[in-house]
Amino acid sequence: MQPNCHDERPDRLEEACAVFGVYAPGEDVARLTCFGLQALQHRGQESAGIAVGDGDTILIHKGLGLVDQVFDEEALAHLKGAIAIGHTRYSTAGGGDWKEAQPHVSAIDDEPIALAHNGTLVDTAPQRVWLANEGIQLYGYTDSEVAARTISVDTRRAGHIRAGIRLMMQQLHGAYAITLATPSALYAFRDPNGIRPLSLGELPRGRGWVVASETCGLDAVGATFVREIEPGEIVKISSAGLECEQGVKPGLRSSCIFEYVYFARPDSRLDGELVYNARRRMGEILASEAPAEADIVLGVPDSGIPPALGYASASGIPYCDGIVKNRYVGRTFIQPTQEMRQMGIRIKLNPLPSVIRGKRLVVIDDSIVRGNTSKQLVTLLRDAGAVEVHLRIVSPEVLWPCFYGIDTDTCDQLISANKSVAEVANYVGCDSLAFISLEGLHNAIRSEHGGFCDACFSGNYPVEIPELLRRKSGMPSLRSV
Ligand code: SF4
Repeated sequence: MQPNCHDERPDRLEEACAVFGVYAPGEDVARLTCFGLQALQHRGQESAGIAVGDGDTILIHKGLGLVDQVFDEEALAHLKGAIAIGHTRYSTAGGGDWKEAQPHVSAIDDEPIALAHNGTLVDTAPQRVWLANEGIQLYGYTDSEVAARTISVDTRRAGHIRAGIRLMMQQLHGAYAITLATPSALYAFRDPNGIRPLSLGELPRGRGWVVASETCGLDAVGATFVREIEPGEIVKISSAGLECEQGVKPGLRSSCIFEYVYFARPDSRLDGELVYNARRRMGEILASEAPAEADIVLGVPDSGIPPALGYASASGIPYCDGIVKNRYVGRTFIQPTQEMRQMGIRIKLNPLPSVIRGKRLVVIDDSIVRGNTSKQLVTLLRDAGAVEVHLRIVSPEVLWPCFYGIDTDTCDQLISANKSVAEVANYVGCDSLAFISLEGLHNAIRSEHGGFCDACFSGNYPVEIPELLRRKSGMPSLRSV
């Protein structure tokens, strides 16, 4: 694993990819995948790719940039087949180079396979050694390549790709929602804790099957939600139909709770809960936990808007649109200097002085990671004439790094890991600051299954973090806690 340079990291937790897959003979599967990826674009903007199985081989097109920058009519015209998988990437492991763009293509003997991965495998170093001992040369740094190569070796050994995937699931640990295409079949599988989301849908009139990181990807292609892929489950879709099996024993269900706060689109359903509804409830709970004397409530677009509406309705303070977001600036905008970073937020968010001037504001945002963005935002709001800024955050304090597919800093760069709430408020320059409680966040989500990963707030990691990684991230050694 080779994380990005810290200086290039944005000041918030960033998504770590979307996966998509479709099995639909006779349909334009590449175009359907393109639509699905556009719906999932918020989960990664560094690269996009589609691989198609045409019965004989795998065809691939991928590149750096947004989906509509990578794919045009000509590219789609070359991708004809019955099966497609797609991927949008935000790099957490490996670099942001073209060669790290997914789907990753490799082979099992003469049969090509393509693999798309959302998540992070927590420790691939021993597996790299194992692969080297098997005579496998890795070409990149990504954990996704390690997964693909492991499946290849295991399939050769087991004689069947499903058995190969089962073996890989026993060998590799961490977070993964994976779609895999062979020339004639689509596979989708998910880690035993179900950390990253993956849903199954069906196209109308039995035209085929779709899998997507979020249900908004199913909606985009007109597919009906069928169910989530279960933790540890392998789904195979081919001319034989849908075949499901438990690949590995499920662990403690640990859906990423931050998906509800920020990563997922508000129109997606996770574990049966509409993300928008959960966000509104977070705002309502925050209003009861952390009331404020103010004239208006503002939400920081986009993820702060639903909780701001919830906060306003629970508190009786009117909601106003007071911050305009520029939708054409990618989240991966790299800001090499502090001055450029300061300008970066002005390009993305612009306050409306006519709404804000002379007002006491409650401002709802999703999280505080390093604190720089919040500091700049408060400055912008004061410059626009706010007389008081009361910051309310719909996630608890981020105290621990994420190792499951989300780009986070080391402990020393997480502001709340090093400062009290009062010190953070002072740094940010707001009049008051409060975070939702962890209990409040859990209570806001009415999922069918329950069972969340909340490690970045609690330090309770559902998949053990190896000692070396803990040390690199500035976490206390397991031996000392
Ligand atoms: S550590 Fe945080 S961001 Fe990472 S999977 Fe768990 S809840 Fe999600």
